[in-house]
Amino acid sequence: MGKIILTGDRPTGRLHIGHYAGSLKRRVELQNSGEYEKTYIMIADAQALTDNADNPEKVRQNIIEVALDYLACGLDPEKSTLFIQSQISELCELTFYYMDLVTVSRLQRNPTVKAEIQMRNFETSIPVGFFTYPISQAADITAFKATTVPVGEDQLPMIEQTREIVRKFNTVYDEVLVEPDALLPENQACMRLPGTDGKAKMSKSIGNCIYLSDSADEVRKKVMGMYTDPLHLQVSDPGHLEGNTVFIYLDAFCRQEHFERYLPEYAGLDELKAHYQRGGLGDVKVKKFLNNVLQEELEPVRSRRKEYEKDIPAIYDILKKGSGEAREVAAQTLSDVKRAMKINYF
Ligand code: ATP
Ligand code: MG
Repeated sequence: MGKIILTGDRPTGRLHIGHYAGSLKRRVELQNSGEYEKTYIMIADAQALTDNADNPEKVRQNIIEVALDYLACGLDPEKSTLFIQSQISELCELTFYYMDLVTVSRLQRNPTVKAEIQMRNFETSIPVGFFTYPISQAADITAFKATTVPVGEDQLPMIEQTREIVRKFNTVYDEVLVEPDALLPENQACMRLPGTDGKAKMSKSIGNCIYLSDSADEVRKKVMGMYTDPLHLQVSDPGHLEGNTVFIYLDAFCRQEHFERYLPEYAGLDELKAHYQRGGLGDVKVKKFLNNVLQEELEPVRSRRKEYEKDIPAIYDILKKGSGEAREVAAQTLSDVKRAMKINYF
């Protein structure tokens, strides 16, 4: 059987360079590699509602923003199925059955859920839907019999939880579901890109982001205001690389050819880092270089996005077509699941 990709994003905001480094860029490469039988890309609006119940308009509006970001990055509706989660009601049914295979304490132990509950200050008022979203994520992945889920590091516990559900289902009922593997970025710096504040991971819900749709000027301002090394006060001071956001971004985005174009006096990133650590290299110079690197990467994305923005109804057509295709596949899996559970009575 061929390999199948399923991955997606919550429409809680426009996509940022953390998504790009952690998942989006890879998706486009995989889509174009020809190694996968199918690629499904889901806009997880139902999941976004689990912690945005009082703000459905935000989720609604961001569906189109996320779709524009996808297309701008090179996801191609001719090659990948782009769809909206809430339109596939079979996913709710699968979730309901999988809920019987997971305990409350197992969910409470899920490190991502724990961290996200803390980040959102839910304390004891956690919506049940949010608490159980790893189960619905298992439904999303298994509905498409996905073998491969390209994600950032924060999603690893989700994939593990899915694998457990699959094993349990296949043991209790029948070998129907496929155990997926996470596909992490190869570059360590892309696993969990920090925000421009250097504190948490770059996240739409925190707002410490450089968005793919930011103008050149916005990107430059954000880069020049980025967190670096608080001990590097004067150019002559030795600088530190650990936790230094500007260098983490360079690890994630810069390539050898950028040096040839923008900093020919350095042979490469190792030499730049060594100079910074030694002292005598100012933050401003490094930030200007990072700005050039990011502008070069983001400019084509930005201009493609502007083109797609001209015809929004065409974007909805793409999502409608994709959702129709996705629904057929999910319905087949649901039917297999019900047969295995022997709840196909008639
Ligand atoms: P939210 O704050 O609403 O959860 P988010 O910014 O965390 O939004 P998601 O939609 O939850 O984004 O994540 C979509 C995908 O992008 C996931 O695969 C996730 O691992 C990846 N991702 C998100 N943030 C980062 C980051 N800072 N670095 C690397 N990958 C990331
Ligand atoms: Mg998230």
